[in-house]
Amino acid sequence: MNIAATNIILSQNDIQNCLERLANQLRQAYTQEDNVVAIVLLEGARRFAADLIKEWDRKIPLYFLRAKSYGNDVQSSGLVEITTSDRLLPDLTGKRVLLIDDIYDTGLTLRAVLDYLAPLQPADIKTCILLEKHHPHARKIPIDFLGATVPNTFVVGYGLDYAGKYRELDDIVELEGM
Ligand code: 5GP
Ligand code: MG
Repeated sequence: MNIAATNIILSQNDIQNCLERLANQLRQAYTQEDNVVAIVLLEGARRFAADLIKEWDRKIPLYFLRAKSYGNDVQSSGLVEITTSDRLLPDLTGKRVLLIDDIYDTGLTLRAVLDYLAPLQPADIKTCILLEKHHPHARKIPIDFLGATVPNTFVVGYGLDYAGKYRELDDIVELEGM
């Protein structure tokens, strides 16, 4: 499998525009008084979350969850395994959770994570997702802040990998031969 270098789905410039638009929406959605906690799904959303919070220009605590459903395959396995990583989650009671992920594909991952977080009794949970695939999604998830909609192809770059590769690309590109 190779990178289809010509098939750029989102250029660096497009990504920057998404970040600016999302940051504006976040400024409107949350006041300075809101006790916001960002929960970032590893690994794919790490770079997006870091850039977004910098663009938002607000100091909010970041926590990480690992939610794996893919392995090295390009199809969802249908099983989602959640592990807390790096730091344990804080007490979320009464906090406003901003859940940040890279892609809303089948929706199984987001459904599993939302079901995991809900019993921790945050004041609310909003979802901020960089990319939504076109699909009919297996699980319908409300997305509060969306970067862009993309075709149902497998994409890499800007933090998104295929079997651990291509994360460091600055554009989001289609993986050839899928
Ligand atoms: P879902 O559970 O919605 O099917 O899958 C969501 C997760 O699968 C995303 O968070 C992402 O990690 C991974 N994923 C889905 N589509 C793609 C894709 O096109 N490229 C990459 N690199 N990961 C994907
Ligand atoms: Mg993911």
